[in-house]
Amino acid sequence: MAVPFLDMKAHLRSIDNEVQGAIRRVLDSGWLILGKEVAAFEEEFAAYIGVDHVVGVGSGTDALHLALRAAGIGSGDEVITAANTCVPTVTGISASGALPVPADINEVTMTLSASSASERINNKTKAIVPVHLYGHPCNMDALQALSDQQGLVIIEDCAQAHGAQWKGRKCGSFGLAGAFSFYPSKNLGALGDGGAITTNDAALAKCLREMRNYGEIKRYYHSSRGYNSRLDELQAAVLRVKLAHLDAWNATRRELAALYSSALSSTPLRMPVDAAEAFSVAHLFPVRTTQREAVMNHLSERDIQTLIHYPIPFHLQEAFADLGWERGTCPVAETVCDQVLSLPLYPELGADGVAEVCEEILGFFSA
Ligand SMILES: *Cc1c(COP(=O)(O)O)cnc(C)c1O
Repeated sequence: MAVPFLDMKAHLRSIDNEVQGAIRRVLDSGWLILGKEVAAFEEEFAAYIGVDHVVGVGSGTDALHLALRAAGIGSGDEVITAANTCVPTVTGISASGALPVPADINEVTMTLSASSASERINNKTKAIVPVHLYGHPCNMDALQALSDQQGLVIIEDCAQAHGAQWKGRKCGSFGLAGAFSFYPSKNLGALGDGGAITTNDAALAKCLREMRNYGEIKRYYHSSRGYNSRLDELQAAVLRVKLAHLDAWNATRRELAALYSSALSSTPLRMPVDAAEAFSVAHLFPVRTTQREAVMNHLSERDIQTLIHYPIPFHLQEAFADLGWERGTCPVAETVCDQVLSLPLYPELGADGVAEVCEEILGFFSA
């Protein structure tokens, strides 16, 4: 039996009736942009995360970009983020005009290291973007202490962490703002692009509502130049359906991750480890191995799909070559990027799917 990395058809089939009902409701309303569905989703997601305000936008990248801009960060400023993040984190920072600066990661959790971040701070540094990568929350105690001490803004990248918690508090409620993506494959995904910003700052939320809609303060009156980046009614209606399932899906992801960890404990693969204070939502299941290519090939020959998140840290990407960072800038992140391999993990995979992947991996190491 083949095991795909993700089974979007099975996922959508599991909520088909509810999604069709939501789409029907929007079609019957005849209202497609900035209406009741977006307003209701913003309220429901704010209650879920535990913040006062949510502003729906066009993507996770836009959420980071607009949150940074609304916080007054731009050209001439530096923003520190984790070297091993997904490149869109850096796309969002660059779009604001600020310079993205790579910091290294914690060797155990593979998330941003506060001590490495502190070494990158200079008088141009304005913000830190912790990335709750793989669904695992960053150490928010250490990062908040650092930002308080240095007077920096925190904008959390929560694109892989819908529902993740640090000491019982949800990611997206720690910084000045949290940036979420609803790209279809995320733990909470739309039927296309979408994103949202969470915040407890009323003035920031007001600024973001204007910014996402050409700087409009009331119809045809514009107080700033703004952008066009909105979550649309159809996506919001679908997200409302899916938000009601999120905790159950996250619980299943965590169960499947635990099955992987115990079944593979006898192999040389290094399993992902959660910090004691962390409630991970297991967006991915990244193991580490020095035999990555061989394991990948072995699984691929048996129709089991794996992916690498991510093979090249952003500071070594061609796109940032002009900034002159070299190998050795973030040694832990660089080693992780050379060794990390994501096994399939999604709610529809089931215990049988995990067992099948594990059987082939055990076969590889016993050969
Ligand atoms: C997906 C993702 C983004 C970007 O989200 P989009 O909605 O695709 O723009 C940003 N950061 C991380 C960590 C992501 O995984």
